[in-house]
Amino acid sequence: MKDTPSVIIIGAGPGGLAAALLLAHAGVKVRIIERLPRPGGRCSAIEEQGFRFDLGPTFFLYPLVLERIFRLIGRNLASDIPMVRLDPQYRLKFGEGGDLRCTPDMRQMAAEIAKYAPADAANLSKYLAENRHKMASFKPVLEQAFLSWKDLASWDLMKLLPILRPWRSVDSDLRRFFADQRTRLAFSFQAKYLGMSPFNCPSLFTILSFLEYEWGVHHPIGGCSAVSEGMARIAEEMGVTISLGEEVTALQFDGRRAMGVKTTHGEYQADKIVINADFARAMSRLVPDHLRRRWTNRKLAKKKYSCSTFMMYLGIEGLYDQLDHHTIYTSNDYTGNLADIEGRQRLTEDTSFYVQNAGVTDKTLAPAGHSTLYVLAPVAHQSEAINWKTEKARFRQQVFNQLPKIGLTDVERRIRFEKVITPADWEGNYEVFNGATFNLAHNLTQMLHLRPRNRFEDLESVYLVGGGTHPGSGLPVIYESARITSRLLLKDLGMNTGWLDEAEIPRPAV
Ligand SMILES: Cc1cc2nc3c(=O)[nH]c(=O)nc-3n(C[C@H](O)[C@H](O)[C@H](O)COP(=O)(O)OP(=O)(O)OC[C@H]3O[C@@H](n4cnc5c(N)ncnc54)[C@H](O)[C@@H]3O)c2cc1C
Repeated sequence: MKDTPSVIIIGAGPGGLAAALLLAHAGVKVRIIERLPRPGGRCSAIEEQGFRFDLGPTFFLYPLVLERIFRLIGRNLASDIPMVRLDPQYRLKFGEGGDLRCTPDMRQMAAEIAKYAPADAANLSKYLAENRHKMASFKPVLEQAFLSWKDLASWDLMKLLPILRPWRSVDSDLRRFFADQRTRLAFSFQAKYLGMSPFNCPSLFTILSFLEYEWGVHHPIGGCSAVSEGMARIAEEMGVTISLGEEVTALQFDGRRAMGVKTTHGEYQADKIVINADFARAMSRLVPDHLRRRWTNRKLAKKKYSCSTFMMYLGIEGLYDQLDHHTIYTSNDYTGNLADIEGRQRLTEDTSFYVQNAGVTDKTLAPAGHSTLYVLAPVAHQSEAINWKTEKARFRQQVFNQLPKIGLTDVERRIRFEKVITPADWEGNYEVFNGATFNLAHNLTQMLHLRPRNRFEDLESVYLVGGGTHPGSGLPVIYESARITSRLLLKDLGMNTGWLDEAEIPRPAV
């Protein structure tokens, strides 16, 4: 009898966990090896002194992708991992003055916009209709593998070009609907989910804000990390071995074919290896340079990477009931702030920032009478320009000085727990290349067949899953990468893949 095929997954991030669920369901023997003591990667939790924070993702968007994966393995996301749809989705506070409570109630949203830009409000429904069409047209592209330029050519791209407008950025595309910079900001700041500026981010990504309004901004109870933990629990129930606190130190090869891995605890063989660890970091750490053709260290160094994030996780005595679940402050000099992050590589005095006050929705995150504040400021990725050893304390204070701008006062006195993560920590403690928290940038020269491929092109028996491969960074597409990669891997093992393409159950927008 033929042995059960085996797969090692390096990393228990969202992509690794989703792939484990699908592969285990197909009958593959799966072992996940994770260097950190808990599952979830950048989507894991920090738990200290009764406070619980999401390390990274706090916006759970477009749950349909994970719902589909759960359905494919015979589970139900809604009952396994309860979540609530937020309304308002978030509040935007503009440095230049004014604010906007963004609600999925389109009538109310139009009224909000009309407060300062009546003409923009009238165009809201046009924006939504166009992006609904754009999403429907591009969705199949996000759901299939791009293994060579031929896959690209096989798409009727000529038909898609007028919809995608690759020559435009998110901001310039939105100008067709919205004249006021603040309205454009409300529908373009989401480029930051990819770690990019809306002025450089390809116009395709106007679909990000559309997805929020069409399908909701959700908060899983316990945070986004609860989704990772739920997936890990189910994976183990399905027979997946998850080895935490064990680091892969090298891939083992016979020629170009990967045969197994060496770890801090031993050696393991498998038929296939799936890399979920940060792509550029894993390549430069785990695979000898001479075995790579397209993604050599020299080429990796030349690629464009996303921005990074300066993080503060604050356990607070008391509650901030007046503060929304999500609040985003945009710098008075928004374009200058973006130029500091992407070009000049320096810290901005009036920095944009984001605060999550999840306690207004979820009482499980802090002891009674306490709450958690998650503060994120987008900053340049690691380079010699900013020395975080010397800048950390100063920038921390600078961000604290910004908090009253969203009405958040008297914070420092109430802190009972505090953790700060800088780009240097993302790189050093979390194995993120250049501390670029959202992976390789999503410019057109690093997307589709030009992104590292799901069946990794430089090696044999090696596959990628997560934000570093196609379709890209952000939870929904990361989960989708798991379906794409699992399909390729199972095909290569000669196993059935038809079930992975089972029709979606269409659901009307709520
Ligand atoms: C601050 C921040 C905020 C974000 N906010 C959002 C958001 O609101 N919504 C959203 O959709 N997305 C968000 N993202 C982006 C993205 O969804 C997450 O980063 C996501 O966790 C990336 O998933 P991944 O599958 O690529 O793997 P990762 O989460 O990067 O996990 C990879 C895993 O591999 C492990 N690993 C690395 N090297 C080794 C090794 N040698 N041996 C063993 N294990 C190893 C790592 O420890 C890690 O656990 C955010 C990201 C960050 C950092």
